[in-house]
Amino acid sequence: MKREWILDKNHLSYWLRQLRNQMQLIAPMRDQVGDIVFKQVEHIHKIELNCPSLLPSVKEFFLPQYERLFEYSKKDDRVVDSISKTKRVIFGLRSCDVAALNTLDRFFIDEMPDPYYKSRRENSLLISIVCNNPDPTCFCIGLDTGPYLKQGFDIQLTDLGDRYFVQAESEWAISIIKNYHFLFSRPQKSDYDDQYEVLLSSKARFQKRISLQQSRQLIKSGRIKDSFWQGITSRCFECGGCVYQCPLCTCFTVVDRSYNDTVERARLWDSCLFKGFTRLAGGILPNEERIKRTKRWFFHKLIHYPDVLESFGCVGCGRCTVTCPGRIDMASVCMKLKSIALNGEEITDEG
Ligand code: SF4
Ligand code: SF4
Repeated sequence: MKREWILDKNHLSYWLRQLRNQMQLIAPMRDQVGDIVFKQVEHIHKIELNCPSLLPSVKEFFLPQYERLFEYSKKDDRVVDSISKTKRVIFGLRSCDVAALNTLDRFFIDEMPDPYYKSRRENSLLISIVCNNPDPTCFCIGLDTGPYLKQGFDIQLTDLGDRYFVQAESEWAISIIKNYHFLFSRPQKSDYDDQYEVLLSSKARFQKRISLQQSRQLIKSGRIKDSFWQGITSRCFECGGCVYQCPLCTCFTVVDRSYNDTVERARLWDSCLFKGFTRLAGGILPNEERIKRTKRWFFHKLIHYPDVLESFGCVGCGRCTVTCPGRIDMASVCMKLKSIALNGEEITDEG
């Protein structure tokens, strides 16, 4: 079920304040050094409404960088899990991040439910904003993961200047709007026309059109030589930036820590590009060769994800493009594959 309304911008702050009084509110705000990041909101006026498209993803709020899974108390001989049931609303995320969460749901919920992720997801309402000014590095348009979503959102806002075109899909989202029905009005024909124009103009602003499907086919054809991947690997510093920034990278490791009276098990982000990832007992490193790790990152996103989860392990957010110091990123690798394939050259990478 999908419903549509108009929200005058003058009413946004009141609505958000009411939501914050009922549950945790997370939105883009400036941190201590002036960067815009998603944070818990105390003061509504500190929310950054006019922020760039390329914000850090909200992955951290569903798969925290460090997450205590459970704690054992030696004194009480008791195990307490740390499954979060805090109700919260995340405001201001982009369509590509909502699309990424929809894919993560298939990984973390559908096959073997992860209770930590599942609970966070079930207790989070997402209010996303259509990108009306995509970043030059964005390429979600070729993947149907942005600049707006046709489905799979809770509440989607399109900025029409003095008002938002509001679309709600989930039952929870519709009920939240109905609770504040006096703030919302029915869209007129001109509102639909204006929304359509915003979507068209946003689509026209994309500078990159990338086909992951074409790259997938090329890789599957076996035409890409190891020298191509070797060239890419030689530029990788193994900093892990791409993995940490990517809304669809899920590598983690698990550690046990002992304190005076308690023992905790925690999971924390890891990177498949690190040598020690999946290290086995006895110190055996299954992927010691660097080229194997580079290939795995791209193969995982372009081959394995669509095979198993029916969508690519990339939503075209462009974060790896701005993060990687070695100029290794999904967009440039796919463009290089395309150009070399079209020109019929030997498929290698010289940097
Ligand atoms: S691979 Fe790069 S462009 Fe694709 S979703 Fe991850 S960070 Fe974004
Ligand atoms: S960001 Fe670039 S250099 Fe860093 S691990 Fe990823 S590919 Fe390697």
